[in-house]
Amino acid sequence: MKKAPFFNIKALFVIIPLAVLIPILILRFRQQSKAETTPAFWRTVRHFQSYEFDSPFEVGSGMRMKQHFIRLIDEVRHRVGFVMSVSSGFRTPEHNSSIKNSNGVQYSSSNSPHMSGIASDVLTNDLNDTLKLMTTIMQVRNQKYPTMSLGIGIYGSSSRPNGFFIHFDTREHRTAILQKDTMWTGNDYPQGGYRRLTSQELQLFKNIFNQYKK
Ligand SMILES: [Zn+2]
Repeated sequence: MKKAPFFNIKALFVIIPLAVLIPILILRFRQQSKAETTPAFWRTVRHFQSYEFDSPFEVGSGMRMKQHFIRLIDEVRHRVGFVMSVSSGFRTPEHNSSIKNSNGVQYSSSNSPHMSGIASDVLTNDLNDTLKLMTTIMQVRNQKYPTMSLGIGIYGSSSRPNGFFIHFDTREHRTAILQKDTMWTGNDYPQGGYRRLTSQELQLFKNIFNQYKK
């Protein structure tokens, strides 16, 4: 049998196209993740208007949401089939630092992804809708945005006995190695004044997370 040469000329047909393609893909990807929305972009969104993501501190700031996040939430809304009420989308730094609990303590993270236009909080009616929403968010990410990592926070509404809200944010990473999804609940923030999730509810959310997490 002929010994394989140390350097195979055919390999160049693979190496050269890859050497050209990979940097182009990385650049495209980084650009995409930074892109804010435009009026033309919003005309292609099926279920949301930009004002739904406005910070109350700045009219029109919903336009500062990032495109990939809006694509994802629009697809999630399409699949769940129920209205998704956005209680918080984009936040200006002033808006973010104004979020306080009943004791006047700030409890929104000072580097909240809401300020980067890559997060939203969505109100839900009951446990079933919340489980369905969380499952769909993770499924859409896995199918359409496999290079993104997710942060998911589940909170019991203090004003509506059966209601919840889900915070979710998406960060793009250039490599799968950096990816790590995180999940937390309002129970982790007793000072926030949220209705506590029962251990049974907590387990249901953890099961979904463990099934789909990356
Ligand atoms: Zn949030």
